[in-house]
Amino acid sequence: MQKILEYSFKYSERCNMCGSDSQYHKVLGRRLNRSQGKKPKGKIGISTTIVKCPECNLIYSNPLPIPKNIEDHYGIPPESYWKEEYFQLSDSYFQLEINKLKTLMKIETGNKSLDIGAGIGKSMTALERAGFNSYGIEPSEPFYNRAIERMGIKKDKIKLASAENAEFPVNYFDFITFSAVLEHLYDPSAAIEKAMGWLKPNGILHIEVPSSRWLINRIVNFYYGITGTDFVANLSPMHRPFHLYEFGLESFYKNSEKNKFEVASFEYFVCSTHLNKSFDFILKPYMEKTKTGMQLTVWLRKK
Ligand SMILES: [Zn+2]
Repeated sequence: MQKILEYSFKYSERCNMCGSDSQYHKVLGRRLNRSQGKKPKGKIGISTTIVKCPECNLIYSNPLPIPKNIEDHYGIPPESYWKEEYFQLSDSYFQLEINKLKTLMKIETGNKSLDIGAGIGKSMTALERAGFNSYGIEPSEPFYNRAIERMGIKKDKIKLASAENAEFPVNYFDFITFSAVLEHLYDPSAAIEKAMGWLKPNGILHIEVPSSRWLINRIVNFYYGITGTDFVANLSPMHRPFHLYEFGLESFYKNSEKNKFEVASFEYFVCSTHLNKSFDFILKPYMEKTKTGMQLTVWLRKK
């Protein structure tokens, strides 16, 4: 078992994305600070309550666990990241996204892009190849260092910063991408607001987040229910990968009024089932058809 981390807990009075009153939010169940397996009832740990906003289908942890030391969550990435193949950049990397982006905007010389949570800079390089003057911010020092040392990202193009503490001029970028970031932040709506400020009017913000419709969580929660526990599989607020939120498409439609954008396009991706692969042949097409895949991607256009 991982070492027990120290937290303080913050009660949310409102849904972060749509602002609805949290006393009317539905309690889905409890979530342990570790992998729960088939019998969470028999496991030692601390748990928090997982709730769902009925207005926008945002699933979140209330109270929100805030680590005493943020380095406990994001300081040292596992050694497995630094295998040689992790540094290989294939021609297809981020290409699906770039092809989709081209249907929403015309990429012109001098257009600027920003990758928030740039990692080692793979998407930055792909965007540069697609014609962007490409920038990035990355909050983790090991990733930031390797982006420069191993991937040849220029030092003036990448900042060691998080979405919360980075600064850029207003109306500066034509395209901003947030992939696998928003679900880790305490205040995703504030991060969208900040990114919208950096975008030019009509600029595009690309966001990939875990979907609150994911079928596998529903199946596991159903199983927990019939075995008589009130635990749920959603989120991982106090263990890797430290997801604090799952989003509904409605979370973005509702948030668009506050942060002044329109939802230009959206897609659900099946990704993995996380179950025994022998069920994939039935689960994957079903998830495709019912839009209950693991990932939700939205393309937002600044008004
Ligand atoms: Zn909401």
